[in-house]
Amino acid sequence: MPHPCLRCGACCAFFRVAFHWSEADAALGGVVPPELAETLDPHRLVMRGTQASKPRCIALRGVVGEAAHCGIYEHRPSVCREVEPAWEYGRPSVQCDKARLAHGLAPLAPDDWLVPIAG
Ligand code: SF4
Ligand code: SF4
Repeated sequence: MPHPCLRCGACCAFFRVAFHWSEADAALGGVVPPELAETLDPHRLVMRGTQASKPRCIALRGVVGEAAHCGIYEHRPSVCREVEPAWEYGRPSVQCDKARLAHGLAPLAPDDWLVPIAG
């Protein structure tokens, strides 16, 4: 069973994705590609596309709700790493539920994480 996020991507097309500018400064150990971000305020950058009235991060690949993934997964901002898919660790996730509902997707349930038994 593929990871539920790979059939979703809703949170990457719902929230404004803002983070400290140092995360895109390689000299300070930042890994986010700076060309994919723009200035939000003196302290923060924002992923391009996520400030739009219908947000969609520039790094999101695929179709929300069908097959989607982050094109810079290993280099995504810290805020993206902090979004917890609902029930992956046995806990609900308001952020996940909210984004999915906004895209007409049912919230994840604990059963979405059950791994089928082989054989
Ligand atoms: S909304 Fe939830 S299930 Fe969808 S990609 Fe984000 S964390 Fe994963
Ligand atoms: S950087 Fe990747 S994980 Fe973060 S919002 Fe964009 S597509 Fe989603």
